Amino acid sequence: MGLIINAKCGCGFNEKLYVGGGMATYRVKDMMPAITIDEREFSLQNYYNFEDLKKTFRFYNNPRMFHANENSYFIKYGQITLSVNRNYCPKCHQYCMDFIKIGNWD
Ligand SMILES: [Zn+2]
Repeated sequence: MGLIINAKCGCGFNEKLYVGGGMATYRVKDMMPAITIDEREFSLQNYYNFEDLKKTFRFYNNPRMFHANENSYFIKYGQITLSVNRNYCPKCHQYCMDFIKIGNWD
């Protein structure tokens, strides 16, 4: 079962993300938020392919992708920990994007 996460920023960036893997795909897919190394293209990428993708993408569990503090909350899912607040926004390029869990998917 995967998570449905809303990635939302005050600048207007707003995307619904189907994170992880579904019943039919969880063995081969573990979809996680990522951004290209040039920090322009936001997408979900398969974390199982991390070794192949790490030259092209930075996943959002990378400490460079969020500014955590003592008040931070995290979404833990499989191999990934996502900060709820203060994530790097692909649109306004500030650390002000939230990941809000809104449900699960099969
Ligand atoms: Zn933004």
